[in-house]
Amino acid sequence: MKFIFKRFDLKVPTRIGFRKSFGKIFVAKNRKIVPVRHPATVVHESKQFSKLVEDYKILKTLQSNCPLIDSCAQYRRFEEGLIPHEFVELHCYGDWKNCKYFQKERYVQKVQ
Ligand code: SF4
Repeated sequence: MKFIFKRFDLKVPTRIGFRKSFGKIFVAKNRKIVPVRHPATVVHESKQFSKLVEDYKILKTLQSNCPLIDSCAQYRRFEEGLIPHEFVELHCYGDWKNCKYFQKERYVQKVQ
């Protein structure tokens, strides 16, 4: 993983930072890099299984863009050039389920 971070000019995390990076998206050189735990983690330490499943869920999220793009004010701000492209790659085209605007909108829809 260290090699990949260096290869794409990303800041190499500390040992503890590596663990926190599992399941997170890093944007570099028009690519998305998602560190995940090795599947053999299950064999060696079964209590890590739920974390492993959580890490891999991000891959499913990445298969589609945020469903709120057409109505989202933040995305419109990006189209107007007010928000950097990296934000959109990380959230709207990336981990949109954990976007605070997405979660807020979902909360509003549940209340109505
Ligand atoms: S990910 Fe967030 S900012 Fe992007 S379109 Fe969805 S709700 Fe809007």
